[in-house]
Amino acid sequence: MSRVYNFSAGPAVLPEEVLREAAEEMLDYRGTGMSVMEMSHRSKAYESIIQGAEADLRELMGIPENYRVLFLQGGASQQFAMIPMNLMKNRVADYIVTGQWAKKAWQEAGIYGKANKIASSEDENFSYIPDCSDLDVSPDADYVYICENNTIYGTKFKTLPNTKGKPLVADVSSCFLSEPVNVEKYGVIYGGVQKNIGPAGVVIVIIREDLITEDVLPGTPTMLRYKIHADNASLYNTPPAYGIYICGKVFQWLKRQGGLEAMKEYNERKAKILYDFLDESRLFKGTVRKEDRSLMNVPFVTGDGDLDVRFVKAAKEAGFENLKGHRSVGGMRASIYNAMPIEGVEKLVEFMKKFENEEK
Ligand SMILES: *Cc1c(COP(=O)(O)O)cnc(C)c1O
Repeated sequence: MSRVYNFSAGPAVLPEEVLREAAEEMLDYRGTGMSVMEMSHRSKAYESIIQGAEADLRELMGIPENYRVLFLQGGASQQFAMIPMNLMKNRVADYIVTGQWAKKAWQEAGIYGKANKIASSEDENFSYIPDCSDLDVSPDADYVYICENNTIYGTKFKTLPNTKGKPLVADVSSCFLSEPVNVEKYGVIYGGVQKNIGPAGVVIVIIREDLITEDVLPGTPTMLRYKIHADNASLYNTPPAYGIYICGKVFQWLKRQGGLEAMKEYNERKAKILYDFLDESRLFKGTVRKEDRSLMNVPFVTGDGDLDVRFVKAAKEAGFENLKGHRSVGGMRASIYNAMPIEGVEKLVEFMKKFENEEK
């Protein structure tokens, strides 16, 4: 068996320890004689898995009592509709568009009401985060929406926008659990787990209780109402049971690493190795304004498309997988989520140096 260094943006690398544990429990989960995939989601064994996962997530993030944690399906993209359907009481919401995912969310909200684009960084191919300290927030906006870490472009909000009292809704898919958060600053925090937490198929929504109401837009399907899932503790219907089980294992792994403070420190050390190299390299350069750089997704280019292609191919042969950048940025992107070991980044930089010396 040999594992590569997997720099995929998502689905992405998971902690090896977690994969081994899951493998050990595959045929007989703790004396039940069956795998977690095969058990009733209403069984005692599963109840303790989902409740344990929620308790660990609450502990990791310090989620206050007045927030609910929902384990849902449909990916982050389903939330692009579910958020306006549930929260757009006045049919007005303000969106800050800092990348393709925020743009898709904004466009989707436009189906349901007036979705205002109150700031954008599209003028410079989303390579920065706009100043959001004093935006024209609509007086009747039901919420202000951001994508906190822009997976494709490699930017991250270092300070949250001033929402002027409106609830902040944040897509944190690609920075979930990468550092501590102050949950109270948000109305809704949500993310697909396949970037930094677990297998595709689970989306976690952390939502302030007062935002969960019966008062949703007419025609909202039962399955897309936060209230039905909150009232049923994420067990209204069959949840993505196996995926939640793996998420739970990752939460436990994060606790063993020392929690989110420790992860932040580790992630900063990792990202610094790569960014420091990009800043001094004669061949490679980062594509993002320095202040706005993500700790999780690091896009870079050589400036020569053919050379980029050659680099990605050579890197793959050397055991560094999925470094090809998103088509809208080109070049390369190294996603260095929680589970990417520091050795992976060190070895990648070593390889880049060698490639550079051979080229220049
Ligand atoms: C990947 C991603 C999405 C889309 O996630 P799906 O689960 O595929 O719908 C949305 N937002 C961000 C920030 C992402 O990184």
